[in-house]
Amino acid sequence: MIIDTINSPIRVGVLGFGGLGQAAARVLTPKKEMLWVATADKKGFAYDDSGLSPDAAIKSYVQQGSVGHLQPQGVLSDNSIQDLLSHDVEGYFLALPNLPNTFMADVAKTFIASGWQGVLVDALKRTSAMEQILEIQTDLRKAGITYITGCGATPGLLTAAAAIAAQSYAEIHSVKITFGVGIANWEAYRATIREDIAHMPEFDVETARAMSDEEVAALLDKTNGIIALEDMEHADDIMLELAGICDRDRVTVGGVVDTRNKKKPLSTNVQVTGRTFEGKISTHTFTLGDETSMAANVCGPAFGYLKAGVALQRRGLTGLFTAAEIMPQFVR
Ligand code: NAD
Repeated sequence: MIIDTINSPIRVGVLGFGGLGQAAARVLTPKKEMLWVATADKKGFAYDDSGLSPDAAIKSYVQQGSVGHLQPQGVLSDNSIQDLLSHDVEGYFLALPNLPNTFMADVAKTFIASGWQGVLVDALKRTSAMEQILEIQTDLRKAGITYITGCGATPGLLTAAAAIAAQSYAEIHSVKITFGVGIANWEAYRATIREDIAHMPEFDVETARAMSDEEVAALLDKTNGIIALEDMEHADDIMLELAGICDRDRVTVGGVVDTRNKKKPLSTNVQVTGRTFEGKISTHTFTLGDETSMAANVCGPAFGYLKAGVALQRRGLTGLFTAAEIMPQFVR
């Protein structure tokens, strides 16, 4: 379905106003089909019917610690997500930390309990976190919420690319995702880095969550700012299994994050190996441009899926979908 978003832009909100939330606001600035009207962080929220300004919101967040200080649209609150839900927003990008590992599912339950109807997209990473969202899919459907999960880069853009690449084959042997992320300083993406540390040997989600900023900095000092990960618990596996592409044990995810250098330590790519109907074994490789940042590769797809979710919602389709089964739509 083609939706008329030019005459009536989609009113979107961004929950979480850290690294990805702020980038999301900037991504939306030139868009005509979406209007950024709402945001929330841990200490407050801001809403403006006619659209928020990223510069002003970022200034409040960075200088005063919360978008709740934004004048005149901000409200300080310890229950910012809940408090925002009575406002008129058609879809939200959940750019929230998933710490603890149950946090995103709890946020989804808050939406269900409030009676809010609309579209939600997340950029969840862990398989076990996505399994919790799967458990509430009937509740989401009944509540009138269209929820697309795994809409970042990996899972997200690369998982969807794997689902398309798989079409050349009669059988899929492996899907290998390798990511390279370069960021100038870890504090710009605290949750992302803590969640990555949680994949390191001797760490888990709870130990990483409990680390102070000083402890994270000390750990990164020891590794020269590098986090190298392999065989991660990443929901690309369950998404490709649910999409009928291959069993989850054929999907592997690993990568390198450099927290001291904007340049990517390696090119992010997905390799899909399979057998064609003629019996040939081959590999398709999809590589992201090195100049594209993590923020570009997460926020772009998230809003592409949000637009697709709005098309589903306006057709009356509610419930849970993954980014591997829906084609994102380009937001103009
Ligand atoms: P961040 O730490 O920079 O920011 C988190 C924001 O959430 C902050 O503004 C904080 O105030 C807010 N927040 C925390 N608790 C809250 C609450 N209870 N209510 C309202 N707001 C709250 O985080 P980030 O580095 O931007 O990462 C966000 C998420 O994106 C992480 O979970 C990360 O794993 C995920 N991510 C996914 C991908 C992908 O490709 N799928 C890539 C990168 C990051």
